[in-house]
Amino acid sequence: MGRIQELSESLANQIAAGEVVERPASVVKELVENAIDAGSTQIDILLEEAGLKKIQIIDNGEGIAKDDVGSAFKRHATSKIHTRNDLFRIRTLGFRGEALPSIASVSEITLETAVQNEDQGSYLSLKGGKVVEERPSSLRKGTKITVENLFFNTPARLKYVKSLQTELANAGDIVNRLALSHPEVAFRLVHDGNRMLTTPGNGDLKQCIAGIYGVDTAKKMREIKNQDLDFKIHGYFSLPEVTRASRNYLSIIINGRYIKNFLLNRAIIEGYRSKLMVGRFPIAIIEIQMDPLLVDVNVHPTKQEVRLSKEKELSQLISSTIQEALKDEVLIPKVNYQEIVKKAPAKKIPAEQLAMDFREAGTPKTDLQFNPMTGEFFIKEVPVINVDNSVDSLSGKSVKLPIGEMNNQEVPPPTVFEEPNEKSNDSAQVDNFVDNSSYIIEETENNPSEEVIKSSFPALEYFGQMHGTYLFAQSNEGLYIIDQHAAQERIKYEYYRKEIGKMGDALQSLLVPIVLEYPHDEWVKITERQAILEEVDIHLETFGTNSFIVREHPTWYETGKEEEITREIIEIVLETGQIDLAKFREETAIMMSCKRSIKANHYLNDQQARVLLADLAKTENPFNCPHGRPVLIQFTNREMERMFKRIQDSH
Ligand code: ADP
Ligand code: MG
Repeated sequence: MGRIQELSESLANQIAAGEVVERPASVVKELVENAIDAGSTQIDILLEEAGLKKIQIIDNGEGIAKDDVGSAFKRHATSKIHTRNDLFRIRTLGFRGEALPSIASVSEITLETAVQNEDQGSYLSLKGGKVVEERPSSLRKGTKITVENLFFNTPARLKYVKSLQTELANAGDIVNRLALSHPEVAFRLVHDGNRMLTTPGNGDLKQCIAGIYGVDTAKKMREIKNQDLDFKIHGYFSLPEVTRASRNYLSIIINGRYIKNFLLNRAIIEGYRSKLMVGRFPIAIIEIQMDPLLVDVNVHPTKQEVRLSKEKELSQLISSTIQEALKDEVLIPKVNYQEIVKKAPAKKIPAEQLAMDFREAGTPKTDLQFNPMTGEFFIKEVPVINVDNSVDSLSGKSVKLPIGEMNNQEVPPPTVFEEPNEKSNDSAQVDNFVDNSSYIIEETENNPSEEVIKSSFPALEYFGQMHGTYLFAQSNEGLYIIDQHAAQERIKYEYYRKEIGKMGDALQSLLVPIVLEYPHDEWVKITERQAILEEVDIHLETFGTNSFIVREHPTWYETGKEEEITREIIEIVLETGQIDLAKFREETAIMMSCKRSIKANHYLNDQQARVLLADLAKTENPFNCPHGRPVLIQFTNREMERMFKRIQDSH
């Protein structure tokens, strides 16, 4: 007999299982996808011990006809595609016909299924891929698949499985993505008797998001819709205040399939521009509809990686849509007294120290203080003030804020405003503050005829500085505290972003030319890439074998930093082999703005402060510094009235 033999079907299945069935989560994924493909509207997923002991999926889909049950566990047997042509027009999640045989080969599996018009359903059980029992069943229409003792016959695979917690997290993540991809299906995930997830299945993506990430998060997400000739996109993205530490909350869904795609994830983040804090990521669910011809899903057995034609165009569409949508948001964080009271641990700062702070500031008793060093609010425990008295005693008197470096200007008492906007309800604000980096964002009417951002930035009337760090200003909407460093960073950033890389600008000649020496291999590389450097006005002249000489530079270079900046740019080109002009501008602008801005503990005179605020108002996005931190926060009139007990809290 020859040495080359065909593998037995069961061995082939086990090998295939290595690719398709890595862990419990992959079984869940395959079975739920089958249930979705079967047109189910309700899918229940029951797990025991993170799925290692038992995974049960119950659906109300079309079921498998009696005659087909035997084929379902055969390799490459599928009802979803028939011809080569079908392969290029895939609308179902499955099509390779390998999941059931693969799972069956490494577990004990039972299938109970029935279709609408047959009088009887079928029951089939297999162990390690071999049929154990086959009989009719009395199931209603739909399918119930139970997988037990996963990997019982592949100990090596079992060893590979991580802790129960990790496996459960993985399975939960998969179900989340499947549910987000199919808001028209009601999902239920139960682990060891505990319900972990429910989605309503009414087709509303936002309600589906609420089922998965919570109602409060869903409330702080905004809808986007857009399309061009090739793509139709719809979805939700979180406001910049709601962020997470990883990219894990970004979901890209193409034609109903959750996919992993680095470029598209990056496109989402780019849509936020500099509104996100560095190292933080938004939550976003973006559904994309496109001609199946433009997407090749047959790249990997798990079908999570796909090959996209026109990926760049799609990225562009996603970024610009999010960017456009964010323009309409008012981005001034609001201080919420209720939450400060609830959140701030009263004991955080010793009472004596507090008392001292108060004496120094010479302020009336209040129970709220802002600590500029930590950026936190804290509460002083004071006896409860009689509400009526406090109103009387305060009215008509000028309000003195507990700030060190105030002008002697008197500030008129806050006007009592009827607050028309009850939209920002308490519960939304509650978790806003809990979400530590967060602040409140007001919804504005989406009126395209107005420049919303511009008109929403208040006319600030400056009246004082504190600790050389914060500026105070008022408008008829309340009190604003401005972080002067962040404000200046924003102004400089926008300036540099415009200036950097502007071609054809006059160059500045250096009195003493810079000589740059490099190791020979780098020198060769740089020589090859000289043309790229010319694009950003770095003109290198060869100077000996391993050196260049630079005689002039763009005018935006900081004096004294010419060599440093030139070297940094060459470094980028060396590492990446290219300069993406837009990116380069962005990154260099951030670097320059941060380095050159006034730091804390720097006192500005009145004139300087007013100029700073006026310049800030002129920027494109006066609300965030280039790193995404807030530039200013607001105490609304209403909040101030609450704090001073001029009005009762509405509960
Ligand atoms: P694929 O999904 O790639 O076709 P599978 O091995 O996952 O391959 O499933 C094989 C076949 O079994 C499917 O094509 C489908 O006809 C049938 N099937 C599997 N699960 C279900 C289900 N929950 N409801 C109805 N039919 C199912
Ligand atoms: Mg399948």
